[in-house]
Amino acid sequence: MKDWRKVHVETLAVHAGHEIDPATGAVAAPIHLSTTFQRDVEGTYSRGFMYSRNDNPNRKALEDGVSPLEGGAAAAAFGSGMATAMALFAALAPGDHIVAHVDAYYGTSRLLSDVFLRWKLETDFVDMSDLAAVEKALRPNTRLLWMETPSNPLLKIVDVAAVAQIARKAGVISVCDNTWAPIIQRPLELGTDFTFHSTTKYFGGHCDVMGGIVIAKRNDDFFERVRTIQYTGGAVPSPFDCWLVLRGMKTLPLRVRAH
Ligand SMILES: *Cc1c(COP(=O)(O)O)cnc(C)c1O
Repeated sequence: MKDWRKVHVETLAVHAGHEIDPATGAVAAPIHLSTTFQRDVEGTYSRGFMYSRNDNPNRKALEDGVSPLEGGAAAAAFGSGMATAMALFAALAPGDHIVAHVDAYYGTSRLLSDVFLRWKLETDFVDMSDLAAVEKALRPNTRLLWMETPSNPLLKIVDVAAVAQIARKAGVISVCDNTWAPIIQRPLELGTDFTFHSTTKYFGGHCDVMGGIVIAKRNDDFFERVRTIQYTGGAVPSPFDCWLVLRGMKTLPLRVRAH
């Protein structure tokens, strides 16, 4: 993959994930609606695609584009922000404990307290602007810290670097819901393991597409589990949804500045 580290974010937003179509020379990517891809005579899939739930050229382009934008190693796109959160929580195990920001998005809190509690994933919601409260909430079985900053809807602020450091010291996975501060805040650079976006919001930017994406700092075992849940569980975005979100990314730095 191209090394994007020295590229201005505005340039990256326009080019990452975009390739000239080798078949036609089209500069805007074609939308690949095919659910199924041709097998080689040897029975392999040398072109990398087999079945659209597993992977699809438009989803791959979106993941390859958003990942460098956040300074990550890999990304997994889903059909909504909540489907993304669901995959992250499902990658944990019964008996694990989560510490989440008290002002996390309503749907995220709901998912943890209504759905995953029944699956024996326990969550403590704390005000993460209080670092002592974060430390105090940690238990031996705490596996994940979920930040959200600025939060929706109260725009409460969490010190991402400080909370990420608490997580790292405790050997706990840290995630930052960065939906409200794309471009201007890069949680992976501040030390988190994962950055999360509801791409329904600023990435899409035009109220016409739903999506979510998680960007991983390292392509580690936990991310592999999220990836497996993505293609096995199948809460994947449609090729057109991926195309729209990646198109939205082109103007994201300019729109964020205007916002
Ligand atoms: C909207 C939103 C979500 C949920 O994403 P959906 O795409 O609606 O599923 C999660 N976090 C934040 C901060 C949001 O604003």
